[in-house]
Amino acid sequence: MLVVSAHSADFVWRAGGAIALHKQNGYRAKVVCLSFGERGESAKLWRKGEMTLEKVKAARREEAERSAEILGAEVEFFDLGDYPLRVPDEALMRLVDVYRELQPAFVLSHSQKDPYNFDHPLAMHVAQEARIIAQAEGHNPGQKVVGAPAVYAFEPHQTEQCDWVPNTFLDITEVWETKRRAIECMAGQEHLWDYYTRVALQRGVQAKRNIGITATRDIKYAEGYMRVTPSVTGDLA
Ligand SMILES: [Zn+2]
Repeated sequence: MLVVSAHSADFVWRAGGAIALHKQNGYRAKVVCLSFGERGESAKLWRKGEMTLEKVKAARREEAERSAEILGAEVEFFDLGDYPLRVPDEALMRLVDVYRELQPAFVLSHSQKDPYNFDHPLAMHVAQEARIIAQAEGHNPGQKVVGAPAVYAFEPHQTEQCDWVPNTFLDITEVWETKRRAIECMAGQEHLWDYYTRVALQRGVQAKRNIGITATRDIKYAEGYMRVTPSVTGDLA
């Protein structure tokens, strides 16, 4: 599985449960952080004073590495800068190489729209563009092309304004404690720890509603996803 994260903490809040769960189920999990979120998502670190961009980036890298280790993911930092994030062709091709090497079964990234954060939809755009290039026979012929990994948008901060509607719920109850530990590595954004715990509880209630009251499975925590590529199936049940 591949997670394309605009900033170095996004993957933890939005897909930490998916990473821990799939890792537990034998998947290889890789996270690409396009930036450290050093300007736009590190307010608490900047308020400490005596801060430089390099110091903030180093702190954010360390937090993300510790989180990824707890979740069981490999992490690669592209360090492209944030607010604004800009993705040159060289970085796009580096992401294509990640697809070709990893051959992911599915990809998680941001919502396709986010009026509060223009780095987020750009990350999703690049995740999808790299996926398509990685499928092209004529790109680096001789390498193994990728199939059609499913693409899901993980949950943004302001769902309604982002036109994000969950059509997939992932039961993360059994890995919740792991996700919470990974969340707690994000010292720069402590105000979000309980917020994203509440989100997981809410999505858990909704997930349960969608399997019906006769189901015996007890879901407490879930992550919501908006699948953006069609499902192809031979069984509609
Ligand atoms: Zn972000």
